[in-house]
Amino acid sequence: MENLSLRLNHIQQALPPQVTLVAVTKNRKVELLADAYDLGLRDFGENRVQEMNEKQPLLPSDIRWHLIGHLQTNKVRFIAPFVHLIHSVDSLKLLREINRQALNHNRVIDCLLQVYIAREESKFGLDEDEVIMLLNAPEFKSLNNVRICGLMGMATFTDNESIVRNEFATLKRLFDKLKSGFFADKNYFDLLSMGMSGDYQIAIEEGSNLVRIGTALFGER
Ligand SMILES: *Cc1c(COP(=O)(O)O)cnc(C)c1O
Repeated sequence: MENLSLRLNHIQQALPPQVTLVAVTKNRKVELLADAYDLGLRDFGENRVQEMNEKQPLLPSDIRWHLIGHLQTNKVRFIAPFVHLIHSVDSLKLLREINRQALNHNRVIDCLLQVYIAREESKFGLDEDEVIMLLNAPEFKSLNNVRICGLMGMATFTDNESIVRNEFATLKRLFDKLKSGFFADKNYFDLLSMGMSGDYQIAIEEGSNLVRIGTALFGER
């Protein structure tokens, strides 16, 4: 708890007021999440549906649960009742299922589109053309129980700062372009989720307002 408190203070000092810290709690024990809660954290990020589902009922109900990892269509129903924000939407098919499950629970689920910006081969995320295709799809407008609130991206895992900075800047440019092109009258389109333990300072400099931090907060896994 002592260490956690020190690390949290250190991180918070580096965060401008408009930036929300999502504490990435994957593979961490519920007791540690409870400590984080007691220190004031309310936004928790998990990358697996099952783990989020196991932890959620054991902790206070005002925690905002962020799904940050790849989401399979057949798992959406397990988190639909309570999830706060899904960062990893990467297809219209997935969005359609989130909409369906949200409707079942009589709610609107907030989502981010995950955009592929890194050099590494990755299976997940949309490229710019795919994002635009999704937003132009006639079906998209009929999905009234999901709201696209912004974008999420992960930079290349490298010490080369200029590569990372470039990738974040690319995502910010796309965010601005979509905001003016598709969401000009939608003030909920205002979230840019980028930055992890190793690169959140660069991400913030490039316009992030949602950072997902695990290791720098809880230590090495
Ligand atoms: C694990 C994970 C993080 C946090 O990574 P750290 O390096 O531990 O801060 C952020 N985003 C996603 C999508 C993750 O899976």
